[in-house]
Amino acid sequence: MEDCIFCKIIKGEIPSDKVYEDDEILAFKDINPAAPIHILLIPKKHISSLADLKDGDEKIIGKIYTIINKIAKEQGFIENGYRVIVNCGKDGGQEVMHLHFHLLAGRQFGEKII
Ligand code: 5GP
Ligand code: ZN
Repeated sequence: MEDCIFCKIIKGEIPSDKVYEDDEILAFKDINPAAPIHILLIPKKHISSLADLKDGDEKIIGKIYTIINKIAKEQGFIENGYRVIVNCGKDGGQEVMHLHFHLLAGRQFGEKII
């Protein structure tokens, strides 16, 4: 995806503060953090949004959650807890059209939407 900002981060064309990387997944710090810890996890394969998941993509989505827990253990917030958010599409407030999971921690989230 030529114009995708997160594909450029994966390729190293845009710098990022990496937290985790393997052949399928990249995790890096959000440039505009909404919490003391705000990490974005993305599949290296370009998937535009949750709405664009295809058969077989469930494997990588499941893996992202296990990486979230690995990071939570390593960074010491697994006990206190954390919040994971995926914005999807216009009404979901998605701005970058490359599927990403927001991992937020380090403060109590009072705003309960659901
Ligand atoms: P969305 O609103 O699409 O769910 O979230 C996009 C997120 O990407 C925002 O939290 C925004 O701060 C982050 N972001 C946008 N551009 C960049 C960038 O170039 N580098 C990093 N590290 N984060 C970015
Ligand atoms: Zn992309």
